[in-house]
Amino acid sequence: MAHTGIVRDNRYMDHVANTYHPESHQRLEVLYGMLQETEMKGKFIEVQPRMATREELELIHVPRYIQLVASTAGQACTMLDPDTYACSKSYETAKLAAGGTLVAVDRVLGGELDNAFAFVRPPGHHAESNRAMGFCLFNNVAIAAGYALKTHKLRKALIIDWDLHHGNGTQHSFYERADVLYFSTHQFPYYPGTGYVNEVGSGTGKGFTVNVPLSPGPGDAEYMQIFEDILEPIAMEYKPDIVFVSAGFDIYYQDPLGGMQVTPEGFANLAKIVLEFAKETCKGKVVFVLEGGYHLDGLRDSVKDVLKTMRGDILAGGRDENIREGVDHRMIDDIIKKVKEAQKPFWKNL
Ligand SMILES: [Zn+2]
Repeated sequence: MAHTGIVRDNRYMDHVANTYHPESHQRLEVLYGMLQETEMKGKFIEVQPRMATREELELIHVPRYIQLVASTAGQACTMLDPDTYACSKSYETAKLAAGGTLVAVDRVLGGELDNAFAFVRPPGHHAESNRAMGFCLFNNVAIAAGYALKTHKLRKALIIDWDLHHGNGTQHSFYERADVLYFSTHQFPYYPGTGYVNEVGSGTGKGFTVNVPLSPGPGDAEYMQIFEDILEPIAMEYKPDIVFVSAGFDIYYQDPLGGMQVTPEGFANLAKIVLEFAKETCKGKVVFVLEGGYHLDGLRDSVKDVLKTMRGDILAGGRDENIREGVDHRMIDDIIKKVKEAQKPFWKNL
């Protein structure tokens, strides 16, 4: 069995809106509840989070923006963008979300853990260097990738973003850098509007951003095909020293915000594909970071299967070959071809 770490802390529920909001504390309530089930309890190694420091936040965010979020502490709720609230404890919670992810990185790179999942909120992948966006305050996964390179002196990090939405903030953080490869599958056209096939990075970062924009419809088989045809060959050629997953569960088939058809078995299989190539390139060092996912039962069941996969309780023998059988080629063949054409100049494996 793998040593799988989890970051959880009740303080992540302190970021609370004053009206209904899909990105609510209940998302963690159901996940933390699931972790207490007999089947799951005691199987994971607890990682105690800490607050990210100002210097760590500045790996991605400009001081003026950090100051803006800091100024919301202790205040009545304000909206930082049309979708993104900050209430009295949001700044502290967001610092703890980024910091919790960093501790997961330390433990995995220190070798105490094989892999880890940070169950933190607010989520991060829409947060830009200078503004809040799409429920996100600080970009947890981007800060963690920057930190892994700087503090642990790694050469290359891969960020896989399977959230329903394009991670504009993460993409922009590393758009001109070759030391962080950003790969995203996302519903398109859709919020936030970025993530075209031809957004491939610029300058020295050219070829180190990979976007797979998708019409609604793809499920377990189609995602598997995309991961195997595009992500896996690129990852094997890139050879990252650490892999991050911006793990959004809003591609779940019943998610209220999305039109994708992924089931818990499908999520487990995607996690398995990632863990398998990470085993080849970086001894399986994968840090999953929670992003979206708004169907509470779906979130719980999907995360549960991903955790079991990380630990080796399911799919221990490898990816689920049966899933591939059901692939609807009309949904994805065209986009796979377009992405390959856009990326071929940069990757021999494609
Ligand atoms: Zn999302």
